[in-house]
Formats: sequence, C-alpha cells, structure tokens
Amino acid sequence: MEDKINKNTTIEEDILNNVEITKKDTSRKILIYPFDTNLNPIIITEGWFYSEEENSIHGTTDHEGIDFALPIGTPIKAAFDGYAVSTYGFSWVTDINPDTQKEEFRLFYGDKISMDIGLFVQIYNPKTTLFTQYGHLSKINEQIPFTKPLFEEETETYFPAGNRIDPKKYSLSRNAVYVKKGTVIGYSGISGITKGFIDYPECMNTVRRDPIWDEPHLHFQLFKRSPNQKYAKLIDPYGIYSTCDLYKESTEKDFDRKHISLWRS
Ligand SMILES: [Zn+2]
Repeated sequence: MEDKINKNTTIEEDILNNVEITKKDTSRKILIYPFDTNLNPIIITEGWFYSEEENSIHGTTDHEGIDFALPIGTPIKAAFDGYAVSTYGFSWVTDINPDTQKEEFRLFYGDKISMDIGLFVQIYNPKTTLFTQYGHLSKINEQIPFTKPLFEEETETYFPAGNRIDPKKYSLSRNAVYVKKGTVIGYSGISGITKGFIDYPECMNTVRRDPIWDEPHLHFQLFKRSPNQKYAKLIDPYGIYSTCDLYKESTEKDFDRKHISLWRS
C-alpha cells in the first residue's frame, strides 16, 4: 500500500493539502482530548457508527462523531485552536407510519425522545480548515457568543442558528471569538438527548428533571471545509485501529478503513 503521507509535512499541512489520512502514525497528533483525562477516564460509548443497541432506540446508523461518557458538569476544553460560536438544536425522533404515510413521534417506554445535539459549540481553525464540534453541553462559556435557535411550533423543533461558520467570512464575523486549544468552552450535560420535554432554555441548568434514555456524554465531531468547498467532509477523530479497545464491537466491525489517531492527551 502506498504511503500517501509526505513525511516532510506536518499533519496540519497534510490536512490542508487534502492528503487522505490513511496511515496509522501516532507520532503526529494535533488534537488534545476535550476534557481532563487525569480526572476522567476515556470511555467511548458510541463510535463512528451507532451500536446496534442505540440504533434500535432511534433508528439511525451513522453517528459521524464519537461519544465520551462524562459526568454532568465536566469542564469541556477546545481540542484545537479556532473561532468559536455556540447555539442549540432540538428535534423529536419521528417515523413514517407505513399505513398512513404520516410522520409520527417515535416512543421509548411511552415517551417521545430527542437525539439532537442540544447546546453546542463549533470551532473553526482557518489554517487547517478543520472544525471541531462539542454537543449535549449543560452550559457554555459565556465569552463564546450564543445565537438563539429558531423555534418551529408545529414540530416543536429548535433549529440551530448562527453556528455555521462560513470559511470565507469567518474573519468578518462578529459572532466568533478565538479560543486556544485547552480553553474551557463549556460543561458536559444531557441537552438535546432528553425525553419527555423540550429542554431549551431549561437545559442551561444542570438539574436532571426527568429520567433520560441516554447517559450524560460529550458528542464530539470533526470535519473539514475549505473556503472553496460547499460541503464539509466529516472525519473520524479517533484512530480506530490504535484504540479499538475503546470502541464497542458493533462499531468496530463496521469499520474497514484505517485511521490514525489525531489525539494527544
Ligand atoms: Zn453522539
């Protein structure tokens, strides 16, 4: 297999030059863990693909991020430098009824469920065109600008607003603040994954008001979008083959690509 990574470049340059990351190389890592690994063990509860167990609850296979189990209120740090914004997303899980062809709420033990991202922070790094995203937070660092989501009454949905940093306009945006890797950007929680109630703005509180269908965790996503790209390219943030002991078996077996680990603890 051809080594596609030019050893003379840094991983930032590899990513910038659109080099396909295919080779396991743990010597060059650019992200830090988004929490203090001395205080909290690294427990990945969902990998790039959802486990069969979670899939059976909400019916989605592609997770496109990883979940770290963390107690509510754990400080969440920026894994990479960049311009940060924040907002909130909430929607109910629905299914099309095959008989009526109408959309219906999916129930879990009799309650409607949400599997949206909740309170989240998005950070854009212009040098590498990398985005990092942190979901289900209970609280956001007040210095990171928060844009109120748009509410649609009919579907009880909160659409995130002001969270899509345009790579062409980031420098003109008054809604983004530059944060350094390691800055506390918020606190972990359960926002967006609760059941039985719409939790904005109550999600600002860390109080659990209702039993939940998913445990507290950080949803972490990584993607890349340069100024001339219309759509973002999603990247698995974890080197599955170097760290597969942390992944659930059902996730591991679906995975046939080689990824390097981008993390540095
Ligand atoms: Zn997740």
